[in-house]
Amino acid sequence: MDLLFMEPYCKEVLWGGTKLHEKYGYKTDGDHTGEAWVVAANAHGVSTVKDGPYKGKTLTELWENHRELFGNIEGDVFPLLIKLIDARDNLSIQVHPDDEYARAHENGSKGKTECWYIVDCDEGADIVIGHNAASKEELTKMITDGKWDDLITVLPIHKGDFFFIPSGTVHAIRKGTLILETQQNSDVTYRLYDYGRLQNGKPRELHISQSIDVIRCPQKNINTVKEPVISNGNIEQELVSCDLFTVTKYKVNNNITINNPYPFLIVDILEGEGKVDGVPVKPGDNFIAPYGYDSINLEGDMLFITSHID
Ligand code: ZN
Repeated sequence: MDLLFMEPYCKEVLWGGTKLHEKYGYKTDGDHTGEAWVVAANAHGVSTVKDGPYKGKTLTELWENHRELFGNIEGDVFPLLIKLIDARDNLSIQVHPDDEYARAHENGSKGKTECWYIVDCDEGADIVIGHNAASKEELTKMITDGKWDDLITVLPIHKGDFFFIPSGTVHAIRKGTLILETQQNSDVTYRLYDYGRLQNGKPRELHISQSIDVIRCPQKNINTVKEPVISNGNIEQELVSCDLFTVTKYKVNNNITINNPYPFLIVDILEGEGKVDGVPVKPGDNFIAPYGYDSINLEGDMLFITSHID
């Protein structure tokens, strides 16, 4: 049985930069690459197997025709979507619905809960997570009056920070930020505010009423990060474990074996170099250990993130 190394789908957007190409060597179509969908089986983008018996197949094809690779779990879509995001400019302020709202209002689509690991950022960089309205009434009034600075919560960020963003949370990535995002496999986004920017002379569409519907009031930011566990010189730290996914950070200094009792386990190499079951890996490499690939040996000096469902 082989690990499934994935080739990303890279997306050009106005706010994107050049880091995904420069840092990870991804093939991009321009110098405004905002997103690399490194593990993706979505209608709007797919990653592709790099080598081995499934070389050239998309993750969507594997999900549809080789469900045994994922423990024969049920579902219309592969449950997770992993992206690396390079924001050279601010992204719009947005919110995602939960599964229930998306099912009813977005043609049966999934909602989106996501989380961000800050791979790197400029000095003084910040991020928008949450808001200051105490009730829907106050929220509606602040939005109608355009009191954005009073409404949104802006937090300073540093390399290595982690943020959990459940559906219903107002959020925005801002300029000078490189992020690894783990999320539900959904593309339903409601844009709340776009800083009054124009695209081709026009403002981009906003979704104010849907946003007000789904924004949680009042909002509390939750810290999901557990204390790191150190063993054999390696550091393991659970970043979040919710009913949709578990994300864990590893800083390995020599050798570690990771068990995979899950339907599948995704590994994203972010720093350093080493080997995975004898195969050399570098930052920007992403692979899936399929169902039944019970243990993975990683050696070297590396920082990587794993994600799985239960
Ligand atoms: Zn989002």
